[in-house]
Amino acid sequence: MSYSIVWLRRDLRLNDHHALYQALQAGKPVQLLFIFDTEILHELPEKDARVDFLFQQLQKLNLSIQPLGSSIRIEHGKVEDVWERIHSVNAPSAIFCNRDYEPYAKERDQRIKSWAESKGVTWHDFADQVTMEPHEVLKDNGSPYTVFTPYSRKWKERLEQKGGIPYFPSEQHLHGLISSSYPMPSLESLGFQPSGMNFPSPEVPKSRIMNYDKTRNFPSIEGTSRLSVHLRFGTVSPREKMAKALQVNAKFATELIWREFYMSILAHFPRVTQQSFKPEYDRIEWRNNPEEFEAWKKGKTGYPLVDAGMRELNRSGHMHNRVRMVVASFLTKHLLIDWRWGEAYFAEKLLDFELSSNNGGWQWAAGSGVDAAPYFRVFNPQLQLEKFDKQLAYVRRWVPEYGSPSYPKPIVEHSFARQRCLETYAKALKP
Ligand SMILES: Cc1cc2nc3c(=O)[nH]c(=O)nc-3n(C[C@H](O)[C@H](O)[C@H](O)COP(=O)(O)OP(=O)(O)OC[C@H]3O[C@@H](n4cnc5c(N)ncnc54)[C@H](O)[C@@H]3O)c2cc1C
Repeated sequence: MSYSIVWLRRDLRLNDHHALYQALQAGKPVQLLFIFDTEILHELPEKDARVDFLFQQLQKLNLSIQPLGSSIRIEHGKVEDVWERIHSVNAPSAIFCNRDYEPYAKERDQRIKSWAESKGVTWHDFADQVTMEPHEVLKDNGSPYTVFTPYSRKWKERLEQKGGIPYFPSEQHLHGLISSSYPMPSLESLGFQPSGMNFPSPEVPKSRIMNYDKTRNFPSIEGTSRLSVHLRFGTVSPREKMAKALQVNAKFATELIWREFYMSILAHFPRVTQQSFKPEYDRIEWRNNPEEFEAWKKGKTGYPLVDAGMRELNRSGHMHNRVRMVVASFLTKHLLIDWRWGEAYFAEKLLDFELSSNNGGWQWAAGSGVDAAPYFRVFNPQLQLEKFDKQLAYVRRWVPEYGSPSYPKPIVEHSFARQRCLETYAKALKP
């Protein structure tokens, strides 16, 4: 029987799913496929919360298509080997998937596309992860934007030209899924254990988004959407969230556009994963003191807002955006530790880890990135605390010993660190 495969990756949902919609419209029965890619998994710890999250989402999807007599084919292995295996037993006539802009994914898709075409299997990929793909928002001369404000202006112009955000009602055509009963493997059989982590809901109260511009900077209150992990794995539709955001709260929509801006930067300048976007910043003589790095990681710097943020990260896999900015600035500027060390630690711990936004956020904080904070703007962690957690509600939640003799003394004095940072940066950036 001739059939198509929809290859799910970071688009784990059934509604407004571009590739799924197109596959179902194409008329052949559709089998859903997810591959636990050993190339990615082998680097992760046994209790990785992201794998647990993915696994739970797949279970939910499977449950919702079971009444239709279908199931997700879940495979585990090297992507090439899995495709060879599928092809040798029951070759599909077409592969449908959504595009991904990360360097590893782009290269993988290019390889599988060539392989598929060599076997006579057609390959169809679509825009889904973003409202506006990296090649759609360019300067008039065709080059990418590296400053957010003009990028976002052009983004909005392009949206108007396109006549709004499309919706692809894949959920209305699921009767086109193939009859199948693939078993769901256990998490243990994939080499992982439940993480015990609580995951945020994909449903955000409308009032939270309505008040977003007023509440988003205060880490002690639930003033942000907590959608980042869902956007990361496509368990919500990025288009649908953007369409609502544009209606309800302009500031919230702007943050979603930042996400697309950083994806565009990564797609156009993949070198940022290794190098400073502004090359002269790679001349900075980082101190890279391992004991200080450990104190930062453990939330024992003696700066309560920094420590609360790091402990929130270690325990929950999340950190509020305001606090991410403060801890990243503290690591790079107060301690003069290479932003790549901090970036790697966040990549290991964040449930919402997204290569583009994480790299963008770290390079922003270090001053080395696109549209970054100027290097001479060094956050004062004490002032940030007074401004954004005046009642210490956030600090007390994560650092219960704050104010007692067991709480550590600051590992570095603020004015001294600020001066040392300014001198180090100035030396590196001297023409
Ligand atoms: C050093 C540093 C590292 C970061 N690493 C990541 C990361 O790995 N993954 C990640 O998703 N975000 C990252 N961010 C951006 C931001 O902190 C998170 O997106 C946000 O805290 C997630 O919580 P939320 O969903 O409640 O966000 P909300 O405030 O509700 O924002 C809604 C959505 O907009 C997007 N968004 C918001 N702020 C930003 C931003 N500054 N840059 C890009 N997108 C944004 C996210 O997709 C977010 O879910 C980082 C920021 C910094 C300063």
